[in-house]
Order: sequence, then structure tokens, then C-alpha cells
Amino acid sequence: MTDRIVVVGAGYAGAGTIDSLKDEVPDAGLKDDVELVWINEHDYHLVLHEAHRVIRNPDVASKITIPCESILPDWGEFVQDRVVGLDTDDRTIELEDGEPVDYDYLLLGVGSATAFFGIDGLREHALTLKSLADAREIHEDVKAAAADASVADPAQVIVGGAGLSGIQTAGEIAEYRDEHDAPIDVHLVEGLEEVFPNNPDDVQQAIRSRLEAADVNIECGEFISEVDDDTVYVGGGEDEAPDEMPYDVLVWTGGITGREELENTDLEKDERSRRVFADRDFQTSDDRVFAIGDTALIDQGEDDVAPPTAVAAWTAAEVAGENLVNAVQGRPLSTWTFEDKGTLISVGDEAVAHDIDALPFETFGGIGAKFLKKAAATRWIASITSVSRGMGAWSDM
Ligand SMILES: Cc1cc2nc3c(=O)[nH]c(=O)nc-3n(C[C@H](O)[C@H](O)[C@H](O)COP(=O)(O)OP(=O)(O)OC[C@H]3O[C@@H](n4cnc5c(N)ncnc54)[C@H](O)[C@@H]3O)c2cc1C
Repeated sequence: MTDRIVVVGAGYAGAGTIDSLKDEVPDAGLKDDVELVWINEHDYHLVLHEAHRVIRNPDVASKITIPCESILPDWGEFVQDRVVGLDTDDRTIELEDGEPVDYDYLLLGVGSATAFFGIDGLREHALTLKSLADAREIHEDVKAAAADASVADPAQVIVGGAGLSGIQTAGEIAEYRDEHDAPIDVHLVEGLEEVFPNNPDDVQQAIRSRLEAADVNIECGEFISEVDDDTVYVGGGEDEAPDEMPYDVLVWTGGITGREELENTDLEKDERSRRVFADRDFQTSDDRVFAIGDTALIDQGEDDVAPPTAVAAWTAAEVAGENLVNAVQGRPLSTWTFEDKGTLISVGDEAVAHDIDALPFETFGGIGAKFLKKAAATRWIASITSVSRGMGAWSDM
């Protein structure tokens, strides 16, 4: 009798797990006993942590999209469809277009959605950055706003949220402005006290100085409280009027939450965010269902969970493949602990590196940081496809 392993999602979590299963299944002598099905809404893996590059130059899309068929082993099956439901009692996945798919073991790697925190008007008026289509839409809207603007009356582009996505998005919009000599004012609004919140002061200041050098106006310390057709309202309270920031384009990157497709599953989830609880071996409250990447809140002990980052997803994926095979064989599962390998963050063509493994410097920029940032993306692409495809992306990362 064969067991069917289904992997949902083709981000770092899903693509990495497929890459791991490609070796784990044959190594365990299970190639004839396991059916592998990979489901994703698109037929490509997107290198999401470089998606902001497409805002500056849509041609970069071809470098950061990798056909799923080129990652999947020839004994696996790929299904392009959107998962819209999951029945853990029947062990069935419901698809938007196709017939339901049964599983014996399931890996959920559907990533996350943008959180709007109930801020009035934000969902209706803001663009988000979670997909290639999102990045292209931001590019088009910024371009159109600049075309309608003038040096005397520049287009106002506001990025809300100064975490990894927001900082890198603001950096790319500033590069677009400079490369096209476009009349654009770029603003980065962060509710907490500094850019890249909850990180050490030296890395925050290294990022701030590069954003300022790129002519990005930084507003920290007050949260966006409301958005309407043409104005972002920041701060304000009972006795105080909010600051008003007129905008032409608003991009919101201020938080993540679980995907609504998993809302009605029986899996135990965080009530507020809908992200699925998983143990260190990635098992959820249902022992046939595993979850990693942004989808999951993976227990790390002492009330801690793994962060929602590309590095966490791709390192967990290596162990997830192993554990799916262990589960099929009825063997004990391995555990995974997130290891912080440091931060690499771009501000346009500049980059900042912080706390990188095995390097003696805490925080640095310049050519060294740029090299490491390029190398991280190139290495990932090479690891799931080929060195030549990885090197082909180098110049655009
Ligand atoms: C602009 C930006 C910059 C970032 N920069 C960094 C960085 O510098 N460093 C870093 O570590 N992290 C960075 N991140 C975060 C990082 O990209 C995420 O943590 C990572 O992508 C999570 O991987 P994942 O596989 O869990 O989800 P994703 O990469 O989001 O993949 C989810 C997959 O599931 C698919 N999917 C979703 N729902 C369904 C469904 N219902 N049915 C079928 N398929 C579905 C999606 O199409 C996608 O293929 C950045 C994120 C963004 C947006």
C-alpha cells in the first residue's frame, strides 16, 4: 500500500520540503511506496524575499520565479490550484477548481497574509506585497503617479511599516525615482519608535542612514490610525488631531497574519492571527498534518516561536522532508531549532548586514553586505535548481 504525501505551497517552506523529499524518499527506499503531490496556486516558486526588486524593474520577475516542475522529482505530481479548505477527519484537501485531494500526510506551507489590524480604510486603500502580481501593481501605480506629477507637485508614495518588507520596498521606490528622474516623494511610516523595530540600535541606525541618504522621509513613533481616498492619518487621539499625509500610492507592509483558507480547519491556531500551532517537529494538533514557514507558529520553548522569515522556512524545510518520511515509516520525528544566522537587508543598491554567522563584525554595509545579500538569494536558487540559474540572478539581487 502506498502513502500519499501532499505538500501545499511553493514558497521556501513548500519548495524546500519538496527538495528535501527528493532525496529523503529514495534514500529510505520508499520511492515505490510513496505518492508525492505538490499543490500551489501558481506554477512557480517565487523568491519572495527579493520580490521588492520587481517594483523597480519588472524584468527581474524572470530571475525570481522558478517553475515548480523544475524542482519536483520526476516521480512526483504537480497540481496548480488554490486550496480553499481542509477536512482533517476525512484527510481531504478542497481545491478551488479541481477534485478534492486525499492525503495520508500533509505539509502546510501556504505562507501568510497581510494584517490590517482593523485600521479604518487601510484594507480598502492600500497595496500589499505578497506576490509577483502585487509587486507589478506597485510598479505600475508608482509609474502612473509619477507620470501625473511634476517637480513642483511630486507624487506622494507612502510605505507603511518599516520591517524587512517595508524598508526594502521604500528603498526600491527611491531607486526607481532616481533611475527615471521621476518626481516622487517617498515616505516610510513606522508606528514604533525606530525603523526595523525590536532590533539593536546599531542595525537600526545603519538602515536609517541609508534610507536618509536615499532621500526617504522617515516618520516613526505614531501609528497610522485611518486612511481615506487621498489621506493617511497618523497618530491623533481624544484631544489631538492626527497628522495628515496626502498620498497617491500607499503600500502597507505593517504585519502578517494567517491565511483565511485555514480559518475553518480544526487545527489548533492562534485565535487572533489564525497561524497554526506546530511543535518543534512541525506536527500540528493533528498528527497527520505538519506546518512550517509563515503558516505556522513553531514552538521554540519558553513561550517563543520561530520568526516568519525566509531563513526559518528554508531551514525548517530540510527537516520537514525528513519528518514526513519518518512519519510514513512510523519512526520517531526529528526536532528543529531556529538558528539566527543574522540579517541581510537591502536599501536599493545598498545593503546592511547584521550579526552574520562566523563574521567578527556586528553590523556593516558596503560591498561586503551587498555581496552577502546577493549570495543569499543566489545560493537559495542554486540549491533548489541549478548553479547557472542561481548565478543568472546575481546581478539583479
Ligand atoms: C518584500 C519582502 C521582503 C522580505 N525580505 C526578507 C528578507 O530579507 N529576509 C527574510 O528572511 N525574509 C524576508 N521576507 C519574509 C519571507 O519572504 C517570508 O518569511 C517567507 O516567504 C515565508 O516562506 P513561506 O514558504 O512560509 O511562505 P511564502 O513564501 O509566502 O509561500 C507561500 C506559498 O503558498 C502559496 N499559497 C498560498 N495560499 C495558497 C492556497 N490557498 N492554495 C495554494 N497555494 C497557496 C503561495 O502562492 C506561495 O507559493 C520578506 C518578505 C517580503 C514580502
